[in-house]
Amino acid sequence: MRNIDLAYLQNLDKQDSNAHLRDLFDLPAGQVYLDGNSLGALPTATAEKMQQVIKQQWGQDLIKSWNSHDWISKPTQLGDRIGQLIGADKGQTLVADTTSVNIFKLAAAAVAMRPERSKLVTETGNFATDLYLLQGLERMLGDRVQVVAVPRDQVLEAIDDDTALLLLTHSHYKSGALWDMQAVTQRAHDKGALVLWDLCHSVGAMPLELDACGVDFAVGCTYKYLNAGPGSPAFLYVAKQHLADLQQPLSGWMGHAKPFAFSDQYQPHAGISQALCGTPAVLANAALEASLEVFEQADLVSLRCKAQRLGELFIALLGEHCPEFALASPADSKARGNQVSIYHEAGYAIMQNLIERNIIGDFRAPDILRFGFAPLYVRYEDVWHTVMTLKDIMHTGSWQQARFQTVHKVT
Ligand SMILES: *Cc1c(COP(=O)(O)O)cnc(C)c1O
Repeated sequence: MRNIDLAYLQNLDKQDSNAHLRDLFDLPAGQVYLDGNSLGALPTATAEKMQQVIKQQWGQDLIKSWNSHDWISKPTQLGDRIGQLIGADKGQTLVADTTSVNIFKLAAAAVAMRPERSKLVTETGNFATDLYLLQGLERMLGDRVQVVAVPRDQVLEAIDDDTALLLLTHSHYKSGALWDMQAVTQRAHDKGALVLWDLCHSVGAMPLELDACGVDFAVGCTYKYLNAGPGSPAFLYVAKQHLADLQQPLSGWMGHAKPFAFSDQYQPHAGISQALCGTPAVLANAALEASLEVFEQADLVSLRCKAQRLGELFIALLGEHCPEFALASPADSKARGNQVSIYHEAGYAIMQNLIERNIIGDFRAPDILRFGFAPLYVRYEDVWHTVMTLKDIMHTGSWQQARFQTVHKVT
């Protein structure tokens, strides 16, 4: 790699075919935002869209809007649009609830589909909610299932003839390390197990091919790379061939074949709508609709290339200017998502210092600094400012000041 300096990076920005997409976002001036992997930035169109849904659809059209503005179909309509980003044919993806709730529904459904099998295999150090939900299912079902959580390098061999489900996060939330979706899914299927992929750090970050990989189930959130806003609803995917046998336990009225028949007996909808539980979050769905429009003007293959390049440049510059940090992500950009994580035992205080200097990343206990390169709006020159600021913080030791040591509720 040639000598990287600010002029070189600014030139990459000039040549960047995705550069114009940044203009679709309402970003605060003078700030480098490298936390789009945790809370995506606000698309400019979102506020206007939400205003319209609030003032006209809710305010004026009131309850008629369930039909006249088709609020009732948003979970499947938006699901199909997310389907385009994850390689899923229509009718398999649904927007509803949170990722946590959707994990529970699908893990429980998988257990019901593998009545002779008792293991739920996952990795230690997986995102906490994934582990907690499996543990909750284990408690609820008594001796029926056991959670088998093993270190990453032992996951494949832990899948055996007694495995009902394998639950993995495709792009690890801390390290960004990627699993090979196709190979791992195949491996689980060879053993007769079902697979549930958590796509929280992958959707909108890179092209995915769920149908082509033969994936059974997937979940993901929309407030990270999809930019749908804090607490926006999650999605779930159920492969076509499983829709007829799915028995998800949260059999609320919206998942009924005919919700407005109000019959006493639950009868699931035949399609993906059976995975609904209660009333959809209409306002949040409006924000998601606006944020998906941004992706419909973009090319995920090209965005992923840009994100990889941003990460490579960040790692190269860091190696040159900030030797104090060790890489916590795979060095090969093909093996990691769109984030780069680095270790430092004073990581929390260093990140607080960076944030005060208008460079926003985040911290994951005990010692990881995370930097997300959301390619829709992160510029090449941002990489320069980040590394130079980090270099200054380390050289001056400014992070040691007392105010950076106070730990906030959300890190
Ligand atoms: C962000 C994230 C979640 C979030 O789940 P919620 O129910 O939306 O809080 C789940 N899994 C992974 C891997 C995540 O990164």
